[in-house]
Amino acid sequence: MKAKQQMNIISFDIEEWYHFDIFSKEDSWKNYPPRINLYLPLILDELDKYNTKATFFCLGWIARNYPDILKQIKQRGHELACHSDKHFFVREMTPESFRKDLKQALDSIENVIGDKVIAFRAPAFTITENATWAFEVLAENGIEIDCSIFPTTRSFGGFPSFGEAKPTLIKYKGYEIKEFPINTGTIFGKQFVFGGGGYFRLFPYWLINKLMNQSDYNITYLHMRDFDYEQPRFKHVSGMRRFKSYYGIKGAYSKFQKMLKDFIWISVGEAVQQIDFNQVRHLEIK
Ligand SMILES: [Zn+2]
Repeated sequence: MKAKQQMNIISFDIEEWYHFDIFSKEDSWKNYPPRINLYLPLILDELDKYNTKATFFCLGWIARNYPDILKQIKQRGHELACHSDKHFFVREMTPESFRKDLKQALDSIENVIGDKVIAFRAPAFTITENATWAFEVLAENGIEIDCSIFPTTRSFGGFPSFGEAKPTLIKYKGYEIKEFPINTGTIFGKQFVFGGGGYFRLFPYWLINKLMNQSDYNITYLHMRDFDYEQPRFKHVSGMRRFKSYYGIKGAYSKFQKMLKDFIWISVGEAVQQIDFNQVRHLEIK
């Protein structure tokens, strides 16, 4: 049974299998074999089965190097959004370097799809409490919707003072941004983000299903590499990082299929249409 009163947003981060790795540098990216299109067609077919529209946050770098990926997504009726240009962490950038990266990404994506991009997700949810200036840069560049907040602490920073993970209207220096934070689930008093990446692959489906049912707001951040069990492994990614990067890939695609079957999913744009932002929490960020 699909429960109706929930808001479940399905989104993907469109980057290559090597874009997460802190040791891989841009000049080496062209030497790596492309793998992004191995799972994307299957995923687009699966979404079609349920007549579901999703939001795809794309790197500007992908738009320039593999424009057909974005065209394919657009042709199938999905939303294109921005995931920065080269996957740099926002909290490690200056407002100037972030502005430059964002403009390049938006230009590249908009050139390929011929539409304006109004939604953004920072790499690794890195708009932290020390990088709130990013909201001004986003708003100045036409971004109206943000999905970059990780409303608890994590190794990459997070935004623990954000409060409850629910759609929120952020007000920053006179700008307004519609925020869709990533949601967490609680297991033994600890918060986990399970809508993509490591814990999505680690948790069994029954647990993902249970955590989703405990929340009336869920949002995913799935990657093609979450499904691609034949991807090359970086030798220098070791220990816990290696485990988190590569565990559970084999079962991930069937979990995705079950999630699609068991819940009703909408895109970020459809969620914006359903929400009256005068009625949600307004958060003034200094
Ligand atoms: Zn990413």
